[in-house]
Amino acid sequence: MATEASVVIHAGKLLADPELAPKERCSVHVKGGKIAAISSGFIDPPPDAQLVDLKDKFVLPGLIDCHVHLTGQFGPGYRLRVVEDSDVKIGLNGAYHAKLTLKAGFTTVRDVGALGHPDTVFALRSAIAEGKVPGPRILCVGTIISPTGGHGQTYGYRQDVCACVQSHSGTCDGVDDCRRAVRRQVSFGADAIKFVATGGVLSNIKAGIDQQFTDDEIRTIIETAHGLGRRVAAHAHGAAGINAALRNGVDSIEHGSFLDDESIRLFLDRKAYHVPTVIAGMTALEFARSSADMTPAQAEKALMVGTKIKEALSRSHAAGVKIAFGTDMGVGPHGQNAREFAYMVECGMKPAAAVKAATVTASHLLDIADEVGTITAGKSADLIAVDGNPLDDVRTLERMQFVMARGVIA
Ligand SMILES: [Zn+2]
Repeated sequence: MATEASVVIHAGKLLADPELAPKERCSVHVKGGKIAAISSGFIDPPPDAQLVDLKDKFVLPGLIDCHVHLTGQFGPGYRLRVVEDSDVKIGLNGAYHAKLTLKAGFTTVRDVGALGHPDTVFALRSAIAEGKVPGPRILCVGTIISPTGGHGQTYGYRQDVCACVQSHSGTCDGVDDCRRAVRRQVSFGADAIKFVATGGVLSNIKAGIDQQFTDDEIRTIIETAHGLGRRVAAHAHGAAGINAALRNGVDSIEHGSFLDDESIRLFLDRKAYHVPTVIAGMTALEFARSSADMTPAQAEKALMVGTKIKEALSRSHAAGVKIAFGTDMGVGPHGQNAREFAYMVECGMKPAAAVKAATVTASHLLDIADEVGTITAGKSADLIAVDGNPLDDVRTLERMQFVMARGVIA
């Protein structure tokens, strides 16, 4: 819920638009949760307005993470928690993770798969929007669309236990069923649709990481979602699944680990986005190498994918594919989303390009560029501040100093 209060922020350096150079000594005027104006110099606030002194800070737009799972957290004891936690507890876990995410400077996230009932994340989205719970603006997909035995729905418990923990609304086989599954998520309140084009690491089944849905199922999912005005994200590791999704008009490929020359050609031709989530690959690899928290089926796939995501990002970025920031937090620890920036730079992105991926580009992928992504009059007052210059050292973003979301100081 936006506050009506007026705030004037004195910004030592202001990166209002990450596609342009930062400016020195600016005042950002905030009213009713929105950016009212930006002026040069440090303007005295009117009597009814609060002054926020960020004269020694670098101010930039609130960050956007296009790939999180707010209601889950992988790690020790995960397999037991999945069967212990009720949907209410899962929702409360999500509220805790949302707070950590906001404090880390992420003022918007796309939740690409709820644990338990999809209401866990729909309820969290509403509570945050109404100002009852602190957290980032959430766009959500509800439950992941997945085939029987597919990634995102397969835990490998005995059948009757699986029946308790699976959210069956996202499981579908055959084109009619896929159409129904997409429509069902939209009817529940999904802002976007996410489906699994290939196998994935954390599903407990030795089913590899290649294409899972057939081409006609993939086409149906994407067409149905687009017909309902929803963007589509495809979880995809293997090249065949990546390319089938791209050929059928998917909006973003999540992970993209084994993308090939054909994938690059399709990305550019279809103007699709790559959401790399390097940190998820690295985190899964650490778990596979160092602890007993992964089952053999999970560890085998984690070792397969691991560093491949890094190679994939290096390749897609060098080829000029649009990169949107995403972390897959829920695999890694919520609140450490900004660690992805250093990986992006390791993959050849300039810090400015990495910041653009988490602001301007992400806002376009999420189709909310008129609301977020830059500090512009009329847009939501989502802005953050750090010490130092993130365009010189992107790791400054890991030490967030100030966060304002929809005009409210977090
Ligand atoms: Zn994910």
